[in-house]
Amino acid sequence: MTKPGWKELKLGDVLEAGTAAAFETGDWRSEKPIFHKDRCIHCLQCWIHCPDTSVIVKNQKVEGFDYKHCKGCGICAKVCPVKGEKAITMEPER
Ligand code: SF4
Ligand code: SF4
Repeated sequence: MTKPGWKELKLGDVLEAGTAAAFETGDWRSEKPIFHKDRCIHCLQCWIHCPDTSVIVKNQKVEGFDYKHCKGCGICAKVCPVKGEKAITMEPER
C-alpha cells in the first residue's frame, strides 16, 4: 500500500518519525568518503558530525560508512583532525 504524500495529509496531521531511514539517499552522492584505517586515531569526530548517521562505529572504533545513506557531504573528511594525510578522503563516485 502506498503512503499518502504530504498534500494528501489532513490539516494538523503529522508524518511518521524517522522516515529518512526508508530512503537510500546514497544515490544522491557525487563523491564518497574513503576510510583509511591505518591513519585513524578513533576520536569519533566524524561520527559526531555526520548529519546522516552514516559513520559505522563498533566497539568505539570506526569501521567504515553506510553507503546506502551517506550523501557524500564531506563533513567527516573535513572534521577529521589527523594531520597530513587524513583518515578520511573524498573520491569521485563512479
Ligand atoms: S560524507 Fe557526509 S553523509 Fe557521508 S559519512 Fe561523511 S559526513 Fe556522513
Ligand atoms: S575523525 Fe578521523 S581520526 Fe577521528 S575517528 Fe573519524 S576517521 Fe578516525
